[in-house]
Amino acid sequence: MRAGRLMLVGSIISRLGVVALLCALALMTSYVNLKQAYNNPRLVELSLGATARKAYEVADAVLGQLGDPMEVAQSNGGMTWSIRILGMPFTDPVAALSVLAVEGQWALGFALGLIVPLLLVLVFGRVFCSYICPASLLFFAVARVRRLLGRWFYFPEWHPGRGLAWGILLGGLGVAVIAGHGVWVLLLPYFALGQTIFHGLAMGTLSVASGSFFVCVVLDFFLGRQFTCRYVCPTGRLLGWLGQRPVFTLQRDASRCINGCNSCAEICPQGISPRLDQTVDCSLCGECMMVCPTHCLSVRRRRRLSPRLAKAALLFWLVSAGPLFAHHFKGLPHYNYFENYPQVPEEEFLGQAGEYEMSLVVYDFQGIHSQNIEDPENVRLFLLVFNLLNSRVYHGELTFEILDGDRVLLSKRYEKAQLENMYSAQRNLSDTGDYAVRLTLHDDGGRQCVIPFRLSSQTTHWGRWIALGLLVLIAVTAVGARKARLVQDRCEAHNRNLSSTAYTQ
Ligand code: SF4
Ligand code: SF4
Ligand code: SF4
Repeated sequence: MRAGRLMLVGSIISRLGVVALLCALALMTSYVNLKQAYNNPRLVELSLGATARKAYEVADAVLGQLGDPMEVAQSNGGMTWSIRILGMPFTDPVAALSVLAVEGQWALGFALGLIVPLLLVLVFGRVFCSYICPASLLFFAVARVRRLLGRWFYFPEWHPGRGLAWGILLGGLGVAVIAGHGVWVLLLPYFALGQTIFHGLAMGTLSVASGSFFVCVVLDFFLGRQFTCRYVCPTGRLLGWLGQRPVFTLQRDASRCINGCNSCAEICPQGISPRLDQTVDCSLCGECMMVCPTHCLSVRRRRRLSPRLAKAALLFWLVSAGPLFAHHFKGLPHYNYFENYPQVPEEEFLGQAGEYEMSLVVYDFQGIHSQNIEDPENVRLFLLVFNLLNSRVYHGELTFEILDGDRVLLSKRYEKAQLENMYSAQRNLSDTGDYAVRLTLHDDGGRQCVIPFRLSSQTTHWGRWIALGLLVLIAVTAVGARKARLVQDRCEAHNRNLSSTAYTQ
């Protein structure tokens, strides 16, 4: 019981921490924008008022304790879809599937962000739901209010089956392919919450996502306890499936279990029954352990690890290497919120002038979802200039020219870098061709650098077909592994029942 209470309290504290982190990230984005735009508390006050100045100064002071405020702010970013904490990326598995379905490939950092979530689910099962998902805090509260009101009012309990969430996942992927990733704001409760926080704190507006969050709360109230988590949320379903046989899981001491008792099944937010040794979908919240009268439930390491699971995981990582490294990206702005997030495929071109390394990122919209792009010839270029000697980003005066042979197509002079220490330019360029940018660093004696870049119409998406083949392979492997797990589970349950019968005799 004590362990169960500790787990429950720990899960509430950790989820509150996640909410606080999301708020901090949204505020940091706001701070970065103000720093880039004004870099002066007085200008912030003149433009946005005294409160904004106060917040700006507090952020400056707090981040200053951790190092260079801008560097600290920039090594933390994103939201629940793809997040970067202390420079380390974390990626939502549903986001990864969506990007794979839409783009046919993953960027390196985006894919690396999957490692921790996948390890977590393979070792502890669906713990994301109880310890990380910020939306589940609200559903947890709704379930309690519902239980309290249930003494006086009737609330229906509808059990549509877990296939509903699979359908929503597949439907969401289909809509994402046709209309873009925005559909997940409506389908993933924690994504909706993240967007609501981000819009509220970083932009001062109410996001449309708050509406979908409200719908989830209504579902939980009027269709069934924890209805969204049990039957609607695709992430919960996916994590439950991936973490069917984790290393650490809930175990029941059958010899102490009371005949006729059903307390654990009644309290379980995931709707499973520890009494029947059901552990698939268990999020280790500890609630059943708290109510068990004989304390016969505990979290233990499985005696045997499934060799098939290990093989499936290994195969997954091997086959994912193809799409993973098919696309290389280095540095910013990949995890940030430029248009068409999480970005159409882009190309990176490097240049060097003396101690400066220049990274030119070209967003080439040509041939990519041209039906969704207003102007498919619109090419965007982002430039980051890095001083290799002092490991600092150059953000001084710079002239940015786009060249077609000797012809200057565009020339822009910047007094300082823009958002996230970058310089950007935008120009309509014809379908394919070889171009170059010429850069002049005025704060360093007019040093110049020319970076050639090529535009190529990307109408053939081999990556999508390769990804599809890999997904089929993974699905076949996983189905085989699942069958083996079920057989193994049945054998274990059978053996446990035999031993408990022998004990009582
Ligand atoms: S099922 Fe979805 S909404 Fe519910 S806790 Fe898990 S991730 Fe969050
Ligand atoms: S069986 Fe249910 S109540 Fe028990 S720890 Fe798992 S999710 Fe929580
Ligand atoms: S609450 Fe404990 S004693 Fe009751 S059925 Fe569940 S495991 Fe058995």
